[in-house]
Amino acid sequence: MSRPVDFTTVINEIGAVVGAGDVTVREIDRLAYAQDYFWLPQMRLDRGVAPARPDIICYPESADEVCQLLTIATRHKIPVIPYGGGSGTQGGTVPLYGGIVLDLKKMNRIVNINETALTATVEAGLNVNHFEEELNRRGLTWAHYPASAAVATVGGCIAARGTGTISTKYGKAEDMVMSLEIALASGELINTLKTPNHACGPGILQLFVGAEGTLGIITKVTIRLEPMPDVRRFRGYLFNDLRDALEAGRRVMTRRLRPCTLRLYDPPSTKHFLKRVLNLDLEGSFLIVGCDGEAEMVELEEKLIAHICAGLGGKDAGRDAAENWWAHRYDFYFPPFAPALPRMYGTIESTTTFDCIYDLYLSKKSAIENGFKEYGARYTAHFSHWYPWGTMVYDRFYIDSPPAGAAEAEALHNKIWGVAARTNLAHGGTLNDHHGIGYKLGAMMPEQYGAAWDSLVKIKNVFDPLGIMNPGKLGFGPPKS
Ligand SMILES: Cc1cc2nc3c(=O)[nH]c(=O)nc-3n(C[C@H](O)[C@H](O)[C@H](O)COP(=O)(O)OP(=O)(O)OC[C@H]3O[C@@H](n4cnc5c(N)ncnc54)[C@H](O)[C@@H]3O)c2cc1C
Repeated sequence: MSRPVDFTTVINEIGAVVGAGDVTVREIDRLAYAQDYFWLPQMRLDRGVAPARPDIICYPESADEVCQLLTIATRHKIPVIPYGGGSGTQGGTVPLYGGIVLDLKKMNRIVNINETALTATVEAGLNVNHFEEELNRRGLTWAHYPASAAVATVGGCIAARGTGTISTKYGKAEDMVMSLEIALASGELINTLKTPNHACGPGILQLFVGAEGTLGIITKVTIRLEPMPDVRRFRGYLFNDLRDALEAGRRVMTRRLRPCTLRLYDPPSTKHFLKRVLNLDLEGSFLIVGCDGEAEMVELEEKLIAHICAGLGGKDAGRDAAENWWAHRYDFYFPPFAPALPRMYGTIESTTTFDCIYDLYLSKKSAIENGFKEYGARYTAHFSHWYPWGTMVYDRFYIDSPPAGAAEAEALHNKIWGVAARTNLAHGGTLNDHHGIGYKLGAMMPEQYGAAWDSLVKIKNVFDPLGIMNPGKLGFGPPKS
């Protein structure tokens, strides 16, 4: 913190709101909240570089407490960082300018489940798996299955526009929101309209979905639910040419068939990744198709999709491998299969329209593998969340032996990210599909938005005139002095 703050007073004021036991300034806690799953701060810590730490961490239990904490932060002009599960990968919770971390996990109540409207109202800090378990007991599901479900919170998924393994049918977390309750920097509590669809002016809801805590803190969420499907089945198809597999996906989506899952692995991922995690021996591009719902519908959709795949040379690989993938779908993201230090890696994913996706993939693969050949850069990709207009590529770079020095490693990391992000933009892609921006990609936001960026900055200034709401994220600057 650059400005003089009387922290003893602030700590006492926060303690008066949340209780003295729910505020901490212990060094070990400050260190724990200095990180999320972003490689860069992890590498820096690993190499002995002192991280930016929060000054204070507290654990509010209600929206009212969050409002009071924001009033305190505004009065003292201290940054506030909302913290859900801390499973973000973009540095979204990293306290770049110190300040107060509001860990929201004590706000974990299910307020109401409406089995007629098929909606639930929950507090934002509710753990995704805990929510899902309760819904499943009632024959319901949120249908949002991110690999981080054991850690992530409902609010964090919405704040970062998350997605899950059956998003192709049920949508991203952002699509499932009915309404939000939000605490503003001023300490006011606001609600968006009860329904996401209306003709009552621009949608305030959409301002806060994906805002990553830079405009306000989501305290309560009303979310759409689904009945548990009668049947959910998976089948695999093997294509010789990735382009034919992408075309199969395009036809499925534009014909408005509704697979819950389309997951297409590129040839290197099919050969190496699926072998390593699932012990499959496959060559080509492996497409996993999942369909769910009522048995008759599933049968019909599977039949129509099989016809499309066969017409493009996709060989039916049966159910076993695909069902096995479903059973182990999260294994890819955890030890021993997830990449970890000392290796350098980054998920440089993007989303674009069907006409651009193959070129985007090829260009990025080349930019990584050829552009960073001297470092032995590797690249893998799969296409995992599909829309009626396009798809996303979930791709990663890996450098197995990065430079030993923190500064050199950081410079190489940032260079690779710059190349990857600009390749995404140059080929009609977005900076990101579902992990968010954080501070990892913040510097690229003006480039992505062009003239529209200024409008976003003006909106930020209206909701957060002091710049204390998660400063340095989404491309917004430091707190104002
Ligand atoms: C192993 C692993 C697997 C993953 N798999 C997936 C996946 O399948 N799909 C996917 O989408 N993502 C995935 N992620 C990324 C991550 O889980 C998501 O970004 C998730 O949405 C973050 O939720 P969280 O509660 O942990 O948020 P956090 O990391 O705590 O926060 C993320 C951002 O949202 C802000 N924020 C958090 N809560 C609130 C709130 N209530 N109000 C306002 N702002 C808030 C934070 O300040 C931060 O900017 C994965 C991450 C890991 C580590």
